[in-house]
Amino acid sequence: MDRMERRKFLWGSLIGSGALLANSLVNQGWAQSARKKKLPPFLTGLVISTWNAGLTANEHAWKSLLEGGKALDMVEKGVNAIEADFTNRYVGLGGLPDREGHTTLDACIMDSNGMAGSVMCVEQVKYPSSLARLVMEKTPHVQLVGEGAQQFAVEQGIQLDNYVSDEAQKMYEEWLQKSEYKPIINAENHDTIGLLAIDRQGDLAGVCTTSGMAYKMRGRVGDSPIIGAGLYVDNEIGAATATGLGEAVVRTCGSFLVVELMRQGMDPQRACESAVERIRSKHTNVKDFQVGFLAVNKAGEIGAFSVQPGFTYALHKNGINQIFNAPSMFK
Ligand code: ASP
Repeated sequence: MDRMERRKFLWGSLIGSGALLANSLVNQGWAQSARKKKLPPFLTGLVISTWNAGLTANEHAWKSLLEGGKALDMVEKGVNAIEADFTNRYVGLGGLPDREGHTTLDACIMDSNGMAGSVMCVEQVKYPSSLARLVMEKTPHVQLVGEGAQQFAVEQGIQLDNYVSDEAQKMYEEWLQKSEYKPIINAENHDTIGLLAIDRQGDLAGVCTTSGMAYKMRGRVGDSPIIGAGLYVDNEIGAATATGLGEAVVRTCGSFLVVELMRQGMDPQRACESAVERIRSKHTNVKDFQVGFLAVNKAGEIGAFSVQPGFTYALHKNGINQIFNAPSMFK
């Protein structure tokens, strides 16, 4: 390098690092304004959850808040009510089995300290979300899978439950007639529950629990128990959860993406829309599947958006618990 070239190089790197510094200051500014958001004093807690079953889950989460529960208790109690509902075909032991006839459950949970727990592909456990909480609280780990997760459940005094739903069994036998492997989640076949809560102190927690895609390959795990995919909580910024085709959500780190977009200053609605847009831009078959996101920020503002129409969510806010239709990319 001669002197001239060296000078050019030095100027180039100085300008480059100046731009980087400016960029990071702007980002920090956004992050700070996102962090300054606080729950307005009139709002004493909030619960938001996916699909129609969310209405019941929200009630249970709210009951927990009234009994003095923290956000973590609220989210666990909320979805426990759905996991125990054996008429639900997409959550808990009443869920549809994999293509070999085993009902395998996935769940994860995150608290307001950024701690997380997850269980994947676990069988005969009635409350996988509670088991995920135990992984978070009683082990140095985040994720346990399959037999190991089940063994841990037994060690924790959980009695295994070999309940099999007659109706799910019948549906599975009908599916077996053709055994068509269609690993796609569209507007009809879903119902994972993701639930986000803010407690009286303004702290956030979240949970996501599912029996996963119906008639999936043995061992298939979707987004729901994966921290950053099916769920992400950052108590300084907000929380997000996802439902729908797990593979598309995993590929794009969907829930983490939503929270990071909020960190950069987007409101929850815009953040959910951007995450759906990311999914669209990374998939050529987006018209064939469904994904929906829910988000809430520290101020209790919410967002909901999906690929296809038909994504519903339940919101418990200001003492009213009701179902809404999320706006969608396709109309
Ligand atoms: N996301 C879940 C999965 O891929 C399914 C769903 O939300 O319906 O396992």
